[in-house]
Amino acid sequence: METVRVGVVGVGHLGVHHARVYTEILGAKLVGVVDVNEERVHEVAENLGVPAYTDLDKFLDETRPDAISVVVPTVTHLEVAKKALGRGAHLLIEKPVTARIDEAEELLRIASDRNLILQVGHIERFNSAVQQAREMVNEPVYIQSRRLGPFSPRISDVGVVLDLMIHDIDIILSLVKSDIADISAMGRCVRTPHEDIASAQIRFVNGTIAHILVSRVTEKRMRTLEITEPERYIMVNYETQDVTVHHCIQKPGRGLVEVVEHPVFPKREPLKLELQDFVNCIREGREPLVGLRDGKRALEVCVAMLRQIHGEGEQGNVAAL
Ligand code: NAD
Repeated sequence: METVRVGVVGVGHLGVHHARVYTEILGAKLVGVVDVNEERVHEVAENLGVPAYTDLDKFLDETRPDAISVVVPTVTHLEVAKKALGRGAHLLIEKPVTARIDEAEELLRIASDRNLILQVGHIERFNSAVQQAREMVNEPVYIQSRRLGPFSPRISDVGVVLDLMIHDIDIILSLVKSDIADISAMGRCVRTPHEDIASAQIRFVNGTIAHILVSRVTEKRMRTLEITEPERYIMVNYETQDVTVHHCIQKPGRGLVEVVEHPVFPKREPLKLELQDFVNCIREGREPLVGLRDGKRALEVCVAMLRQIHGEGEQGNVAAL
């Protein structure tokens, strides 16, 4: 396929950036944007010089896109994704992939029956610092992840586990090549009816321990990943895309000396790398870096944590967000 004709469904806070990036990357052509908010969709479409639609069926019938970014609220992912897959479009679905695990399984079945690519928007995998650290990580024994920031009333439909912690869970699951032995999680509602602070621990069968702390009611912003290995300690700053490596070397006459390295590497916009990879996968017919199985696995871990935070009795509410 020469040029991938792409549409974006949902051009709110994040979707507008998907639409913009498709006009900037190689091998893609933005053929339209869709949103139920008429004023919003016309504003975005006009800025980018593409057609605006408020009706998804009309968009699919008129433009017949090769691929779609699904950037609508999570509870509507399934409905939009099924329609698009039904018309043969490859999909990039924002995280969390769906609101419920059975919905993710349904999408997995449809996409594999129709041989369509289904990528999940775990954008931190495309963070240049994460990609740099991944090349160094060998044998993690302890991982600590912190994602903290001040309250924003914009996101109140889900708690911090599905909104923020899912990013860290996906990164940790991708770094530790082992099954999970057990999970423990705690959380507190502070400003919304959902958990606004959560702390979780994952113990892997191979002995690796991961501790994740997330908060959306903390004044100071912090987004870090610290990986301890027997021979070194690697720190990733997600926001500045910096990596720091600490290790010790034996110096003649001086014994063990601590060395701190700051690797130099190109830093690029993660969304651009993510969407370019999606487009390349379609053109080359290869599997995405973050497929639906990974998206579903991260969602399963979130659901297990939410059950511990909110109690077994609220499982139904948890699964349905
Ligand atoms: P948003 O509310 O700002 O935007 C959603 C847009 O979808 C709105 O403009 C709304 O009018 C539109 N919409 C709703 N239902 C629709 C439908 N059926 N058809 C067409 N349009 C519809 O939300 P957002 O913050 O942009 O989040 C969207 C998705 O992206 C969510 O799944 C969220 O979890 C995810 N997200 C991911 C990241 C990330 O870091 N990867 C960051 C933010 C949001």
